[in-house]
Amino acid sequence: MEKNKEENPSILIIYTGGTIGMVQRPETGTLAPVKFDQIQKEVPELNKFNYNIKTITFNPALDSSNVTPEVWVEIATTIKDNYELFDGFVVLHGTDTMAYTASALSYIFENLGKPVILTGSQLPIGTLRTDGKENLITAVEIAAARINGKCLVPEVCIYFDFELYRGNRAVKRDADLFSAFRSVNYPALAVAGVDIKYRKEFIQYPEPGKELELNTQFNDNVVILKMFPGISSRVFNSVFSIPGLKGVVLETFGAGNVPTAAWLVDIIRQAVQNGIIILNITQCQGGKVVMGQYETSIQLLKAGVVSGNDMTTEAAITKLMFLLGQGYPADQIKMNLNKNLRGEISN
Ligand code: ASP
Repeated sequence: MEKNKEENPSILIIYTGGTIGMVQRPETGTLAPVKFDQIQKEVPELNKFNYNIKTITFNPALDSSNVTPEVWVEIATTIKDNYELFDGFVVLHGTDTMAYTASALSYIFENLGKPVILTGSQLPIGTLRTDGKENLITAVEIAAARINGKCLVPEVCIYFDFELYRGNRAVKRDADLFSAFRSVNYPALAVAGVDIKYRKEFIQYPEPGKELELNTQFNDNVVILKMFPGISSRVFNSVFSIPGLKGVVLETFGAGNVPTAAWLVDIIRQAVQNGIIILNITQCQGGKVVMGQYETSIQLLKAGVVSGNDMTTEAAITKLMFLLGQGYPADQIKMNLNKNLRGEISN
C-alpha cells in the first residue's frame, strides 16, 4: 500500500550492526554488536521530529568486517520491500566497510528515487561522548528532506560528522577521528551547520516515471592488487594465476603508473589476452589515472588495461564485481567500467 503523501514523513531505520549499537563485552573487553532494536529509546530526540519512524534490526547484527555481497543484497531487498511505505531510509552500518556497501548499493539500485542514507559512529551510542546521536538524528532529517513534495537527495549517501557524501565517492580515512570519511574527488552533497545546506547542483535526480529496479548479482572472482616498490614476479604471477580469476583492480602509483619491468607487462598482457579484466586505479587519495601520461603507464594502455579514472578503490572493486555479476561480455564490461553509471566516476 502506498503511503498518503500528506502524512508526516515516514522513515525506515535499518540497523545492520556496527559500533553505533555495540557494547563492550565484560569477559574480553572487545566491542561487539548487540540487538539494537530500541533506537528511539536510546535516542529519544528522534521523537521530536514528529516523523513516523520504524526500525528493522538485522539478526545477527554485524561488525561490518563481516558484511558480504549477500548482506548488500539483504539491505537492498529490505529497502525495496518497504519502498512504497517510506519516504526515506537510514542504514546504520559499521564504518569499516561502509564505503563498500554504499558503492555496492548504488549499483544495485537502478532509478532510485528516495534517499538511502548510511551512517554509523566511532563511539557506541550508549557512551557519553558518542558521535552516533548527531549522525543518526541528522541522517534521519536528511532522509526526510523534501522540496515541493520531492526528495532532496534521492541517492545512496554516507552522512558522517556534519557532511553528506555521495556513497560511491566516499572513503573511510581515519580510524579515530569523528570525521572518519571524506570524498576528495567529488564535493559534499550537503553540509550540516546551523542549517543543512544542500548543494543541489551536485545531487543526481532520477529520470521521472522510472520504476526502481534491483540488480543483485555480484561475482567474487576478483582481487585488488596494490603495487609497491619491489613487488616480485612471484607475487604478481601467483595473483594472476588464481583459478577462475575474472577481474583485477590494480592499485597503481600516481596517475596510473607501474614499473616498466618486462616480466610485469608480459603477465598483464597475457592476463588480458586470457580474458581477465584489469582496472587501473590510483593509490593516491585524490586525482585520477591518466594512462599514457608517463612511460610507466603507456604499456598498460597498450596491453588493454581499463582506466578507472578518479574512482575510489571501494567504488571500483564493487563496480567490477557488479558488472561481472551481470554476465555481460568482456567488451561491455570494459566500456561500463569507464562509464558513469551512478555518479561514481567523472566524465
Ligand atoms: N568495526 C566496526 C564496524 O565496522 C567499526 C565501526 O562501526 O565504526 O562494524
